[in-house]
Amino acid sequence: MRGSLIPIDQFVVKVHSRCDLACDHCYVYEAADQSWRNQPMVISGEVIAQAAQRIAEHASRHGIRTARVVLHGGEPLLAGVDRMREIIVQLHTALLGVCHLDLRIHTNGVRLDQKFCELFAEYGVKVGISIDGHQAANDRHRRYANGRSSYQHVIRAIGLLRTKRFHHLYGGLLCTIDIANDPLAVYDALRALEPPRVDFLLPHATWDAPPVRAAGRDSQYADWLIAIFDRWLADGRPIEVRTFESILSTLAGGDNVTEALGLGPSALAVIETDGSYEQVDSLKVAFDGAPATGLNVFEHALDVVAEHPGIVARQQGLSGLSQTCRECPVVGSCGGGLYAHRYRSGTRFANPSVYCADLLKLITHVQSRLPAVTAERRPVPNHALGEGDFREIAAGYGSAAAMGRLIEAQRTLQRALLGAVYRQARTGPAVPGAVRETMRTAWAVLAAADKEQPEAVDTVLAHPYSRVWAAHCLERLKRSPSAGEPDPGRESRLATALGHLSALAAAVAIRTGGQAEVTIPVIGSAVHFPTLGRLAMTASEGCPAPAAAIVVTDGKNASIRIGGDCWEILNADLLSGEPAAIISFSAGGTADWQPVRTLTADGLTVVLEDTDPYRDCHQWPAADRLTDTEAADWQQHFAAAWQEINRDFPAYAAAIRVGLKVLMPMSPAPPGRDISAAARQAFGAIGIALPADATTLASLIMHEFQHVKLGAVLDLYDLYDPSDDRLYHAPWREDMRPLEGLLQGTYAHLAVSGYWRTRQQVTAGAEAEAAGQRFRFWDRHTKQAIETLALSGSLTDLGVRFVAEMRRSVHRQPG
Ligand code: SF4
Repeated sequence: MRGSLIPIDQFVVKVHSRCDLACDHCYVYEAADQSWRNQPMVISGEVIAQAAQRIAEHASRHGIRTARVVLHGGEPLLAGVDRMREIIVQLHTALLGVCHLDLRIHTNGVRLDQKFCELFAEYGVKVGISIDGHQAANDRHRRYANGRSSYQHVIRAIGLLRTKRFHHLYGGLLCTIDIANDPLAVYDALRALEPPRVDFLLPHATWDAPPVRAAGRDSQYADWLIAIFDRWLADGRPIEVRTFESILSTLAGGDNVTEALGLGPSALAVIETDGSYEQVDSLKVAFDGAPATGLNVFEHALDVVAEHPGIVARQQGLSGLSQTCRECPVVGSCGGGLYAHRYRSGTRFANPSVYCADLLKLITHVQSRLPAVTAERRPVPNHALGEGDFREIAAGYGSAAAMGRLIEAQRTLQRALLGAVYRQARTGPAVPGAVRETMRTAWAVLAAADKEQPEAVDTVLAHPYSRVWAAHCLERLKRSPSAGEPDPGRESRLATALGHLSALAAAVAIRTGGQAEVTIPVIGSAVHFPTLGRLAMTASEGCPAPAAAIVVTDGKNASIRIGGDCWEILNADLLSGEPAAIISFSAGGTADWQPVRTLTADGLTVVLEDTDPYRDCHQWPAADRLTDTEAADWQQHFAAAWQEINRDFPAYAAAIRVGLKVLMPMSPAPPGRDISAAARQAFGAIGIALPADATTLASLIMHEFQHVKLGAVLDLYDLYDPSDDRLYHAPWREDMRPLEGLLQGTYAHLAVSGYWRTRQQVTAGAEAEAAGQRFRFWDRHTKQAIETLALSGSLTDLGVRFVAEMRRSVHRQPG
């Protein structure tokens, strides 16, 4: 065995050797190699079982983590649903526990129907479809044997893949270039089909059988692709085009992403319907028998195939190329083009590609446009979000893991803010000595708890309104006492704000069972224990409202003393979330423990926050404490809303499940309006006036959670130039918006348009009609706003990338 054997991890399995179309540019039937004539029509059970076994043993021996298998033909769907199931099951069974199976199928699409899609959905088989553009372009070659167009059948198949049910199977489109077609018309037609990926394929040709070109024009294919590249770039690269992505990747020092370009070794084998191993199909254009290896699945392991001279020849990198290619300035991106395209009788494959002039011109052109794409390609400069997470969130979604990273970043930020409050209060000139002393005591409680049970500190600090409080304190500390008019109430307001540190410390001490004695400001006739609830008091008649309470916790219970009144509550009761029994040693005042309530739904618990003194920060007034009946209404609406989000919007639900911590009831909305808001500092919280129905609540949660996510991203990254003080047109508002407002609104409306699009699909009749209208409205406005952002000239490099992902996403939403 060759010491440097490169394992094969890509397999093309021919499941049917005939086709129901008669495309005149087909390399299987119309090229020099005619070996298909001797192949059985359908792969047999024995062959597929043996092939699957060979792949499994090869994967196991070489530690291959993912085997990429493409089911191919001829036309693979001619095998029928039952045989197709057998093939898929055989592959899955053989590779189970050995490696991951990335299974795809390439089809002309004309037979793709609900039954096939159901089968592919069952096993996660991605579907790639061949189509050459709009109908006239496609009809040029892709016709039935009787000359009939296949276009409408293919469009119907793509329509199936664009439905919500099967969209995850939509692998992309394969378009064979014909320079007689208008490139931009082809691009527009393909883009309108919303594929995740497009492959533009050069027609297979050799120096013996060169491609069709006008006399004297040796780079017409480059011109054709350059027209599309420039449009694609101007469009913000809305879909993945592998030819362009591969060139961009290699120009940036990365790997090629298509076998047609670059120096990366080929690690692909074809398994024919009779079980014979062949080299890559494109070799069929070279000469009759070119792909043959003389090996087969019954007699030979894949290690033998990996050592076949024909396979090894395509793994030699630079040293396997002709002298001309080795000296070529773009060889790193081109790699001599597709191996088959180098063929010439006599010198065989030791030549540049027959598309050499095209490849040189295309790659040079892409290189000249690199400054325009550099901003989009620059890696995310922070450890908090990886490339994939950044793109996923920019697209409007975000996995649980990505959300978890944002939460981690917020935890760090909140600890930094808390430290800043304490530091500035200790050293600031305008903070009374008594306040500093109170804070010092609270800080000591927090520091002790943080050593023993840091998670309790994190729980209290992670509460959205803890950060709102910290930001409020820093803002107050920033204001110089000597600036402007005298402000007699300033000192007491500052003392109240900074004194809330003691409330945080008390809440932590109760959670940890620690001992503490702290002085907590009374705010709104209540003593607050953030995350737990508040003791709401009715003061003794004739007594002025108290300013502060002394709270003592001893590990078992807490006593709250104000003047001559004292109330005691068991820690266990304070932590229960239920109304608590209060032991009163009162001199006349009365008090009521109001616990923080929670809302629960399948897999999700959030706080229904109607007690925290810093919650009123959402641009619409916070509601007073809810009655039990009102809280029950919230519970009912929330459970139904979450069920809807979870069921119909899984791409959004993942992040909401992890990141939504608080719903904050707001005062009732005026008739006919729905009111909701997120606040930049209140990460994880959404304020909502309870709407009439759960469906509206679901839409409000999805909308506002977009602001929550984007706010967390903006805490990490600069996406725009903050010195830009211009106002911008937001298509959904009459007033003009600052840049961040436009960005926030646009990002939120990604979810809003997605919401209505799905509602249109899951409802019927007049409801679906209305949902469709709303979808079109928001979709149009969102797209317009994205272009306004892109043209602002004030996005940073990362902002350019973020907005480009938004654009891709909104143009890619499933139908
Ligand atoms: S552009 Fe031509 S010479 Fe350069 S690597 Fe490609 S095929 Fe070879």
